[in-house]
Amino acid sequence: MQLDSILTVLQEIAPLEYAENWDNVGLLAGHRGRTISGVMTCLTLTSITLQEAIDAQAGLVVCHHPIPFKPLSKITSDTTTGKLLLDALQAGIAIYSSHTAWDNARTGINQQLADMMGLTSIKPLQAFAQPKSVDETVGVGRYGIASGAETTIGNLLQRLQATLPSIEPRHTHGSEHLVSKIGIVCGSGGSMLALVASRGCDAMLTGEATYHQCLEAESLGIAMLMIGHHASEAFAMKSLASQLQTKLPSLRVLASQREASRF
Ligand SMILES: [Zn+2]
Repeated sequence: MQLDSILTVLQEIAPLEYAENWDNVGLLAGHRGRTISGVMTCLTLTSITLQEAIDAQAGLVVCHHPIPFKPLSKITSDTTTGKLLLDALQAGIAIYSSHTAWDNARTGINQQLADMMGLTSIKPLQAFAQPKSVDETVGVGRYGIASGAETTIGNLLQRLQATLPSIEPRHTHGSEHLVSKIGIVCGSGGSMLALVASRGCDAMLTGEATYHQCLEAESLGIAMLMIGHHASEAFAMKSLASQLQTKLPSLRVLASQREASRF
């Protein structure tokens, strides 16, 4: 199948116009006309995931984190990014990323996290303005109400662990602390605390936040729940692989098995 045809389907799942304007999304390296028989999804392209893609004879890697992210003036083996790009291109592997478009999409990462926690009345923290109205199904982050209107941090995390059994969450308040309105930002969401506070949330779920962001959350009366950057996003690259496989049954689609994180 032509690479361009696969990209069309990826853009149906996560339209690139939903990406933040600082982001670098879409086809990042590769020939659009090249024939591809295998695709691998992963959170981040590293020497480990690249080797996995080579072993799996994947002609396209769909990674969540864009590489390259910033403009490059050289592509050499002197830098980690340069070496990865050279090795990928020499192996004939194209690179594509939806990044924040996938975070923000209708069925994207933040929506999936909100569903896992059983929240109700789910809306984006910042909905995207459409030409004539505001679309309340796409946008930055999500927030919603705990089922039963109020729950404990421990219960919320238990619900998450039903889908993500390996997470080792950290949180600012005790497990018995009661919360009702929960804001969600996958990945490094600590910097979005003010937006979460502006929605009247009393808890925030994210991948990672700094010590000072946690102190700020405490002072705002917001319980900060952190499940790890990798854990807050990697699951969605597996669901992206299955969505792509369903839409393109003739393609061989796999999600990375070797990618893991201890931090
Ligand atoms: Zn991330």
